[in-house]
Amino acid sequence: MKKQRTHIPNEVSRQIKVEAGHQCGIWRCQITSHLERHHIDENPSNNDPDNLILLCRQHHAMATAGEITKLEQKEYKRKLKEMLIPRIKLYPDEKPILKQVDLNYPFDSGLQTKYEREEYELRWSSEDKLARRIDLDGWEYAFQDLPDGKRAILKGPNGELTLIAKKKQ
Ligand SMILES: [Zn+2]
Repeated sequence: MKKQRTHIPNEVSRQIKVEAGHQCGIWRCQITSHLERHHIDENPSNNDPDNLILLCRQHHAMATAGEITKLEQKEYKRKLKEMLIPRIKLYPDEKPILKQVDLNYPFDSGLQTKYEREEYELRWSSEDKLARRIDLDGWEYAFQDLPDGKRAILKGPNGELTLIAKKKQ
């Protein structure tokens, strides 16, 4: 049976690129040009984000040839996902943008799924509880990566709620 190739949705494509930091997903490769999206299971219609990894041309060819096995590709993919949240924490001085959204936005935008995959819990916090949760209770701001490389902290309606995240115990 001929394999059916389906278009990778833009949102999935963006997620894959941001996850890899716009460079080849093979650990330490660091190539940033001619990046291609590779289907780990070799099924070109399986556009599940977990099945896609961003690779440079050479590593893509190696993956297709089986020189980098599927199991190894999955390991690299897992490494990328583990890196995702620590990278967010890497630049504490960078001023994030405050973005006002509705309460369903974290879910509808895929942000909640992204955090849950990293085993983080998300919650809206009222302003009066925010300092306590961040400073004392182990919560942190939940960030959304923006296409221009900046990051946003999400505020609920009227700016009265802030989206925060905490690693599940
Ligand atoms: Zn590479």
